[in-house]
Amino acid sequence: MENPRYSKSKLLCSLPELIKMTDVTETFEEQFFTCSICTDVFQEPKLLPCQHSFCKKCIQPYIKSAVISENNKTGFLCPYCRCFVEAENPESPAETWVDRLPTNFNLVCMIEAFDGKRSQSNHLR
Ligand SMILES: [Zn+2]
Ligand SMILES: [Zn+2]
Repeated sequence: MENPRYSKSKLLCSLPELIKMTDVTETFEEQFFTCSICTDVFQEPKLLPCQHSFCKKCIQPYIKSAVISENNKTGFLCPYCRCFVEAENPESPAETWVDRLPTNFNLVCMIEAFDGKRSQSNHLR
């Protein structure tokens, strides 16, 4: 008998399919929804132009210290890929730059969906 889960197309999946896959693997969920600074599930994820996301509470102090340590008041490096992120409002204090970064709403929705699923299964106990 052939298992449909191991079909050839399994590596070419779209995001909804990836979400379905997380039923099978917890590790994926952890990697995908975990901030690489606090290694916890994202809280108010902010999206950088390089497509990396970090919690607002994590990236805000990071930006501040990066500006001081690198003495560059025009932007900061992504903590993950070291890609330069230009500040939209370099004339303002570095702690306000985070407010100009877009919130990663896709991620917020997915985390909520997972949290819902998790609390549902808790209720079933
Ligand atoms: Zn974080
Ligand atoms: Zn990055």
